[in-house]
Amino acid sequence: EPILRVEHLKKVYPDGTEALREVDFTVHPGEFVAVIGPSGSGKSTLLRCVNRLVEPTQGAVIFKGENITRAGGRRVRRLRREIGMVFQSHNLIPRVSVLQNVLHGRLGYKDSLRGALGMFSAQEKEDALRILERMGLLEQAHKRADELSGGQQQRVGIARALAQKPILILADEPIANLDPATSESIMDHLHTICRADGITCLVNLHQVAMAKKYATRIIGIHRGTKVFDGPPSKLDDRI
Ligand code: ADP
Ligand code: ADP
Repeated sequence: EPILRVEHLKKVYPDGTEALREVDFTVHPGEFVAVIGPSGSGKSTLLRCVNRLVEPTQGAVIFKGENITRAGGRRVRRLRREIGMVFQSHNLIPRVSVLQNVLHGRLGYKDSLRGALGMFSAQEKEDALRILERMGLLEQAHKRADELSGGQQQRVGIARALAQKPILILADEPIANLDPATSESIMDHLHTICRADGITCLVNLHQVAMAKKYATRIIGIHRGTKVFDGPPSKLDDRI
């Protein structure tokens, strides 16, 4: 059974911008899919429709067989525990520790009181430290998030998403502002952990070389329309 199906997806923003015109695709468990396309082509809107940060205008998003296109409230919160999100600007809490940032990823976004009081169990802390270790950040666990380099912060962003134990990770331009070596290290970590843990991943990239190197499949988007869908080896110069 597919983990995700996107059918005839369309998004028109209130100002009339047609961000997605008609996008269809299916993702199976374990795939590592890169969504590529120039800036403004609709990649971010696409991921945001999947985790319901954006409501599609038309079409459907089916997650594990459940139509979540118009899901709200509790269903969205449940969904966001199963779907981990990694942002371009990692959105860390700057003045708290790396460990606390990762622990907060396990909370619902509305369950922050427990977090504010630092009420995490020993097991939760141990799990978080193990994830940080896998991301190569154990030594940074007790540093403030804003003391870390940009690349390290992005790895914390990924660790935070992993702390939820998601089955799907959506990463929106996770390496947009980083130098090539740092970008490669981040893609390596993301790719390795997704493979090891069987996590399906959809990652927006504008670097075609990175998509070719890591993805099992590439979806090309241009002006809100899917223009390519296949293995990296079949990608030609159209996009
Ligand atoms: P990408 O991620 O490929 O850069 P986006 O999904 O961010 O593309 O944007 C697709 C189009 O939708 C662009 O023209 C962008 O300006 C527009 N857009 C994105 N977000 C909004 C918004 N909240 N309101 C209006 N237009 C938007
Ligand atoms: P609300 O929109 O009702 O405030 P939340 O409290 O769940 O919903 O989310 C607050 C903000 O945090 C959202 O606008 C969004 O930017 C971000 N957010 C929450 N959950 C997620 C998630 N799983 N993935 C990405 N962003 C999220």
